[in-house]
Amino acid sequence: MKDTFTHQGLRKQLVATLIKKGITNQAVLDAINKIPRHLFMDSGFIDHAYVDKAFPIAADQTISQPYTVARQTELLDVKQGGTVLEIGTGSGYQTAVLIELGLKVYSIERQNELFKKTKLFLPKIGYRPKKLIFGDGYIGYKSQAPFDGIIVTAGAPFVPKPLLAQLKIGAKLIIPVGDTSQVMTVFKRTSETAFEKEEFGEFKFVPLLEDKN
Ligand code: SAH
Repeated sequence: MKDTFTHQGLRKQLVATLIKKGITNQAVLDAINKIPRHLFMDSGFIDHAYVDKAFPIAADQTISQPYTVARQTELLDVKQGGTVLEIGTGSGYQTAVLIELGLKVYSIERQNELFKKTKLFLPKIGYRPKKLIFGDGYIGYKSQAPFDGIIVTAGAPFVPKPLLAQLKIGAKLIIPVGDTSQVMTVFKRTSETAFEKEEFGEFKFVPLLEDKN
């Protein structure tokens, strides 16, 4: 579990790439500069850890592309100390970025193998989410709702109603919507019954699947 000067140097280059691609939020850039992404990947892919690409992790899933993680986190825009829900824990990399920003994180994963692996791994490198949940993200996490923000890190064929219902007024749901490719969509809750919708371009995610496995 080493983080060498070489890794740190590669991270600086990755941050420079993200700035070129349009990421401006300094706290997000600082988090990416700090977190050893190579430790979240299987050994076979470590050489690629600081390339701006998604890579395979366990259970046929992927660790999201750094640009995607940065963009979603920037769009989430929750102040330090806020409570957020993440759907799709996966490797835990996005979770670590949220924790690094000073957020209280609840994160749901439907693949038991990944859930168990990431639950052991995150505290080992000093990241403590409020709770990792083995379950189905389509239903959200009612017992801790409402949230200051919700981020979905898998491609959703439709927008799950419970996620909209679990937002505080003023909070946002960041969700990639679509089947083969997805449109990054932001829903901001403006009242008990009203939401503003905004779209932020095409992305590619593994699918948000129903039920746990
Ligand atoms: N945030 C992760 C991205 C992992 S890819 C990271 O940074 O590594 C998306 C993840 O969503 C996968 O691990 C997949 O198993 C999970 N997923 C898919 N459908 C889900 C659902 N309904 N509920 C919870 N997790 C789900």
